[in-house]
Amino acid sequence: MAALRQIDDADTIALAERHLVQPWPVAGSIGAEARTLIGEGDGIYITDGDGKRLIDGPAGMWCTNVGHRRAELAQVMYDQAMALSYNTPWYTMNEPSVVLAERIASHAPGDLDHVFFTTGGSSAVESALRFMQFYNNVRGRPEKKLILSRGGAYHGSTYLSASLNGRPRDLDWMDGAKELVVKLSAPDPFRRPAGLSVEAFEQFLVTEFEETIARVGAERIGAFVGEPVQASGGVIVAPGSYLKRIREICRANDIMYVSDEVVTAFGRLGHVFASKDVFGIEPDIITFAKGVTSGYFPLGGMVVSARLMEDLRKSNHPDAMFGHGLTYSSHPIGCAVALKNLDLLEEGVLAHTRKVAPYFQSQLKKLEELPLVGEVRGVGLMACVECVADRESRNPLQLDKAVGARIDAHCHELGLLVRPLINMCVMSPPLIITESQIDDMVSILREGICRTMDDLRREGVW
Ligand code: PMP
Repeated sequence: MAALRQIDDADTIALAERHLVQPWPVAGSIGAEARTLIGEGDGIYITDGDGKRLIDGPAGMWCTNVGHRRAELAQVMYDQAMALSYNTPWYTMNEPSVVLAERIASHAPGDLDHVFFTTGGSSAVESALRFMQFYNNVRGRPEKKLILSRGGAYHGSTYLSASLNGRPRDLDWMDGAKELVVKLSAPDPFRRPAGLSVEAFEQFLVTEFEETIARVGAERIGAFVGEPVQASGGVIVAPGSYLKRIREICRANDIMYVSDEVVTAFGRLGHVFASKDVFGIEPDIITFAKGVTSGYFPLGGMVVSARLMEDLRKSNHPDAMFGHGLTYSSHPIGCAVALKNLDLLEEGVLAHTRKVAPYFQSQLKKLEELPLVGEVRGVGLMACVECVADRESRNPLQLDKAVGARIDAHCHELGLLVRPLINMCVMSPPLIITESQIDDMVSILREGICRTMDDLRREGVW
């Protein structure tokens, strides 16, 4: 199938360098940068501007869950656009959003049964935080607004959601609502303090959590926001029963637990939601995006507990307005495609993911044989290969060696797109990947790492 091309690739690159501002640019090349041009997608593959076919290693950005070029999804978007392309959610509603809200509620844990739709993940997290602020204002406790967040976190690019981010560099040159955020340690067992066992590290994290609440005061803390697995921080899987313990502490202190499932929901860990099914927790709010439409349409949202809704309805301020809504909240095309996407997940993709995930993890784990690799970790169909200069000290390779980007460049030559993160490579392919495609992916990644080791040795920097 031909891609919809209006100009040739060389022109596209020249125009990008003149007119397109890329996400996450650096000042020195802002507005003057072209990136790898992707022309087409098909299943787990994408094709770059030179016509080279690549395995879509990061599934776009953790999102092309059921794979590219799904005719069923394209058809449903066409049909919905022809039936109703848009309606204002201010004072009207459409059927797909109502049906989707019910379907999502049926999969959500505990009493989470009310859905608010947004345009993506940042707006989902932003909505959850603004909801928390509104809730506490209506409940007559306007001082209960601070937000607990952790190192390694990524929650978005809007002002408040970005203020929670905890990855190195994200906030170096950016402002944010720092006065509203209390930061905690990253729950990263690989980077735990020297001398602590993983069990002792779990206790360290829990104690830090409790002591922070005691120091700041539960009456001032409105929410804890956390990813079940810190995705963009490098697929950080917290130790043992840490998440369950944090959840209980939040409950005991009347702090909303917001589980940011923008990456983990809609199949990445083999379930519609991972909070309960994988980690055994029932949050107060779950945020989602990405996989809800497998990236075919920008859609996100939050699922909120019935209890919180009931508290508002029973409050002394029945006229207080949640002054928050987006032009594209409950977008009919997004909701229609999400419904079809959910059919595909339920009809086989979730079961397939659960089946291939152990193979995916075990094959990738073998890369720990390579001396550049400090750790391979992951869960479901998300994993991270973390490179180190020295395995003993776990010293990460320095930024100027951009080891993740070097591996990505070699893998690109060999037919695999990798998501480089400083000294790490993230792998989260479309969920429809087969075992033999996993073999292809891992053998290219191995070769890419080997070539990178050769380069580093040749340059005398490793
Ligand atoms: N939360 C998490 C956990 C994410 O990984 C992301 C995006 N990578 C976001 C929120 C923000 O989502 P979006 O980019 O769709 O605004």
